[in-house]
Amino acid sequence: MSDPSEEPKKRIAICPGSYDPVTNGHVDIITRASNVFDTVIVSVVGQATRKQKALFSPEERAGFLRDATGHLDNVEVEIFTTLVVDFAAQKGATAIVKGLRAISDFEYEFEMNQLNRKLRPEIESVYVFASSDYSFLSSTGVKEMATFGGDVSDLVPASVAEALNERLKRP
Ligand code: ADP
Repeated sequence: MSDPSEEPKKRIAICPGSYDPVTNGHVDIITRASNVFDTVIVSVVGQATRKQKALFSPEERAGFLRDATGHLDNVEVEIFTTLVVDFAAQKGATAIVKGLRAISDFEYEFEMNQLNRKLRPEIESVYVFASSDYSFLSSTGVKEMATFGGDVSDLVPASVAEALNERLKRP
């Protein structure tokens, strides 16, 4: 039996991703995670493992996320350069929260889930289904749209729309 006078343990989750840049789909997942966990640490990948170079620096990406989540008291934003599970452990997190859009996300996440569980079985991965409004939305798609002058203002936070316009729009 647990001692009722003891403070309940704070439930900390991390939401890892590239966030290059953050979209309204990410903000939706982060917001919903913040309703379930005591603290959510949005964790920005500082060192890309994929071949594609990021459009925004880790600091810029973290800045956009801070702007977009500033109204959520229990959300923090940090850059990390280690393994996701090691960063989670370092932060005292018990969960890794990921958003799932389509079958294509599932395959990748299924593999990562098995690998992460092998490394640190005590950290649980939790999957949140994308809202129907955002299930088509990806950072890559948004960057493509902005490159060709498409209006992305409904898809990303205002500061991101502005930065995308400045950096990508062809003359
Ligand atoms: P990754 O580099 O793993 O693709 P992203 O920065 O694209 O990371 O996204 C971080 C997390 O947010 C991932 O779990 C991804 O599946 C999820 N995600 C991205 N876009 C959406 C969206 N529109 N709706 C729900 N989840 C999303």
